[in-house]
Amino acid sequence: MHLQVEATVPLTCQRCLGAVQSPIPIDRWFRFVADEAAADAQDDDCDEDLLAIEPRPDLLAVVEDELIMGLPLVPMHDTCPDHPEALSPPRAEGTEEPTEMGGRPNPFAALARLKGKQ
Ligand SMILES: [Zn+2]
Repeated sequence: MHLQVEATVPLTCQRCLGAVQSPIPIDRWFRFVADEAAADAQDDDCDEDLLAIEPRPDLLAVVEDELIMGLPLVPMHDTCPDHPEALSPPRAEGTEEPTEMGGRPNPFAALARLKGKQ
């Protein structure tokens, strides 16, 4: 099976904190084998991913895994817009977790700061 997926995922740019559409192309070959034992046995010496026919593979989960693995670690615009506020008003009701105003992209950095104050 040849799996080709072109997905675009909205992420937050780690430079300007604006929204960035990240295309995630997936182009992989999968080979079906009889069961998971056969998949384990052959997994080491072939390039394709092996999918066991039994139990029936959840193709949606397979695609999801591929997408997650394809996600950029640090999503960023190739070129950040000059005025990201104009594109994504800070007060827009978003689906994201609320962050501190002018907040940092890295929650661990915020944690570290809090710890340092104690
Ligand atoms: Zn940006």
